Amino acid sequence: MSKLNLIELNNEYVKKSPEDIIRFVINEIGSSKIVLASSLSIEDQVLTDILLKNNPKARIFFLDTGRHFQNTYDLMAETMQRYNFNYEVYAPDSKDLEAAVSKYGPNFFYESVEQRKRCCEIRKVKPLKRVLSTVDGWICGLRRDQSATRQEIEIFEWDSSHSIYKINPLAFWTEDMVWEYIKKHNIPYSNLYKNGFPSIGCQPCTRAVRPGEDVRSGRWWWENPDKKECGLHIRLEDEV
Ligand code: SF4
Repeated sequence: MSKLNLIELNNEYVKKSPEDIIRFVINEIGSSKIVLASSLSIEDQVLTDILLKNNPKARIFFLDTGRHFQNTYDLMAETMQRYNFNYEVYAPDSKDLEAAVSKYGPNFFYESVEQRKRCCEIRKVKPLKRVLSTVDGWICGLRRDQSATRQEIEIFEWDSSHSIYKINPLAFWTEDMVWEYIKKHNIPYSNLYKNGFPSIGCQPCTRAVRPGEDVRSGRWWWENPDKKECGLHIRLEDEV
């Protein structure tokens, strides 16, 4: 694969559709070396639909933290049936998890930001590193208007944490555009959205929000809004 010129690509693709972006990365990076990260959000469901329509054998992974809502697992099963495919599932290292829960108890992530990050490191960040070590690029459902920490994301980025490309085909989409696609293509989505959960993560770390509140405000609601990422999408300025 030749090196991608990110500035040129971002200028060229800013007005193009997610389908065009995904077709480009499949051709340029190769379908076995590109993977979609799915948490079963509405954005990830849109990208799953587009990706599998372009390549029924596309790689899509799910980080099974063991603490998701039952609703998320139900949607996962429904999506597998709908598209007749299998997710690549990555679970935490059992030794790490056993040691942490034995030492700190089952709810240690509520104790402090440090402990919350410890839990995310074990259940999400380390499994993510395992899957991303097998590819040259990953596709994510991030959008600029989701939160304070996502307002500067680009469609094509270099992920310096994992030394691979990161592609955000929905970077410039609004939430209304996502819902329009979901409805138009009759794509399955989580019932939790109807109950005030606009951003869905692990069950103990997600709560409903009131109309008008930041969509990410229900995630780790006890923490500073500017620092509410799980380590999967930390931007460079947060790393130094
Ligand atoms: Fe742990 Fe909560 Fe992070 Fe899930 S979101 S990995 S339960 S701290």
